[in-house]
Amino acid sequence: RALALVEGLAERAARRARELAQVPVVVATAIIQDEEVLAQQRAFPPETAGRWELPGGRVEPGESEVDAVRRECREELGVDVEPGGAFGPDVVLAGGKYLLRSYRAGLVDGEPKPREHQAVRWLTDGTLGAVDWLPADRVLLPELRALLRR
Ligand code: C5P
Repeated sequence: RALALVEGLAERAARRARELAQVPVVVATAIIQDEEVLAQQRAFPPETAGRWELPGGRVEPGESEVDAVRRECREELGVDVEPGGAFGPDVVLAGGKYLLRSYRAGLVDGEPKPREHQAVRWLTDGTLGAVDWLPADRVLLPELRALLRR
């Protein structure tokens, strides 16, 4: 009976892992320069307008995550970035519809200008907590702080 229980649990865990592996990833990008990180303020939809997030968006089918980071920063801010490694935890979004995965990136070319957002702002360790972050992005603040202090 104990063996059947363990086998049942293992089967459930394996099924959950397969489900998670198919969850689309939304990338978030911590563009860091001079001990500051860039945040942008959403313009839409109405439920999230006015709140702040790291640049990013859905990874397209067949696209790598770092390519999605490069593309989203170009589309949203008009800048070229060089992605570094992932940091922080994966955050479950929209009740499990997406996973938010975060990457560090350096600014290679261009001045960040909001194209789809209301505003952009460079935040320091001291001002990081002062903006109204989307809940998923707020989860990343301890790791973001650690990156800014390095
Ligand atoms: O920007 P886009 O609509 O592609 O993002 C997909 C989903 O990921 C949205 O629900 C958005 O609110 C969320 N998101 C987030 N934090 C980010 C980027 C996107 O919570 N930094």
